[in-house]
Amino acid sequence: MTKLNELGLAAARDALLAREANAYELTEACLLAIESASKLNAFVHLTPETALDRATTADQQLASGDAPALCGLPIGIKDLFCTKDVPTQAGSRILEGFTPPYESTVSQKLLDAGAIMLGKLNMDEFAMGSSNETSFFGEVVNPWRRKNDGCRLTPGGSSGGSAAAVAADLCLAATGTDTGGSIRQPASFCGITGIKPTYGRCSRWGIVAFASSLDQAGPMTKTVRDAAIMLTAMCGHDAKDSTSVDIPVPNFEAALSGDIRRKTIGIPKEYLLDQLPNEIATLWTAGRDMLATAGAKIVDISLPHTEFALPTYYVIAPAEASSNLARYDGVRFGRRAQLAPGDSIVDMYEKTRAEGFGAEVKRRLMVGTYVLSAGFYDAHYNRARKVRSLIKKDFEDVFSQGIDAILTPSTPSAAFELGDSAKTDPVQMYLNDIFTVTVNLAGLPAISVPTGTNSEGLPLGLQLIGQPWQEDELLNLAFVLEQSAGFQDKPKCWW
Ligand code: GLN
Repeated sequence: MTKLNELGLAAARDALLAREANAYELTEACLLAIESASKLNAFVHLTPETALDRATTADQQLASGDAPALCGLPIGIKDLFCTKDVPTQAGSRILEGFTPPYESTVSQKLLDAGAIMLGKLNMDEFAMGSSNETSFFGEVVNPWRRKNDGCRLTPGGSSGGSAAAVAADLCLAATGTDTGGSIRQPASFCGITGIKPTYGRCSRWGIVAFASSLDQAGPMTKTVRDAAIMLTAMCGHDAKDSTSVDIPVPNFEAALSGDIRRKTIGIPKEYLLDQLPNEIATLWTAGRDMLATAGAKIVDISLPHTEFALPTYYVIAPAEASSNLARYDGVRFGRRAQLAPGDSIVDMYEKTRAEGFGAEVKRRLMVGTYVLSAGFYDAHYNRARKVRSLIKKDFEDVFSQGIDAILTPSTPSAAFELGDSAKTDPVQMYLNDIFTVTVNLAGLPAISVPTGTNSEGLPLGLQLIGQPWQEDELLNLAFVLEQSAGFQDKPKCWW
């Protein structure tokens, strides 16, 4: 029999409404699963008492027939979301002990919809990374293992705690954030679904900022239907975020008709890299055939500026990060370094930032400060902004030619080993984001759907990229891909 924590959002919701389970036992089942999965290091802070209190309230609401959409459904929240009176440390030592007196808009919306927060999820420091190894709280371990070895694999990053927790059934779903792929890449590595909505769909208010023009929150779930349910609750206009857009939020679940006839899917030739493993290229072709069989028209397209996306991202994201992270100075948030007698305020800033930030964050701050500095601003930052416009225009051009969505692999590999020496060169690590950063630069919605496994039994995802504000269409396409692929595998429990 399926254990309660193994349910997804839709299945648990239906079980609660049918009185086949109650929110209290559902929450307890997740807390128990979390307790026995400490080896994964997915959670950095737990809130069991509040969760069980809320479960009691949820059961009362369910009994009175007055249950909101996510009533009684236990989820995890990435530690980048500020949660009122609950530590929010963004994977960084510099935010040690920071307990916000406010709740982020997105997590508040989830609470308002009746969801139960189990705790905060581990992540790369300030969401910078692709392997969850930059967290001050230690790496997260992927619940999946290769068939023939016991190597510890990365869950991906930066939302690695979220992906591992959902894949290992520690929670029904989780929030993630995606600046350059941090929802889609870990979703792909852990065999779950992750959607990054259109820039401006979800409020960024109360989410610790990394690169403000790229950051978006989104759901990480066990199924596409769950992603639709959770996204409906997360998005909506928020006056507290000036980039949040005031347009209606459809009921995304209602869009899952399974009918994709008359849809046209583009296959961009620039994504077929020389180094792309055969298994991923084959899966991509299989995905294309699945959509064609379901009635969609498949067209080869070109996105000519794709090759410039990574360098552009790795100028713009660090530039914005260097400005956003200037606020961590030992005065206002979190940790302050021990000072020696006679130390000045400048010594205090320097010591605090030197010991508070990890190596990857420091690297980004230095790159960011450099590309924004007076003599180099035009050569690097302004040039990157121009190339960003060209990348965005590539997408606008294909969409204006009748393409509804674009199909690509989510990642250039399956999950790799933690501590992989080939990835100690930061540029090698950055190459992980090759298929995902274009979407953030263009502000588009995109979803990763688990579609198959490689010969070693590890999950692989395909990415669908949609038109702005067409998350309903995108989710419906993803739903068809999910149904056709029939991916049902789960990691074997070793933890
Ligand atoms: N891996 C990318 C980076 O390190 C993306 C991170 C993200 O999306 N938060 O910047």
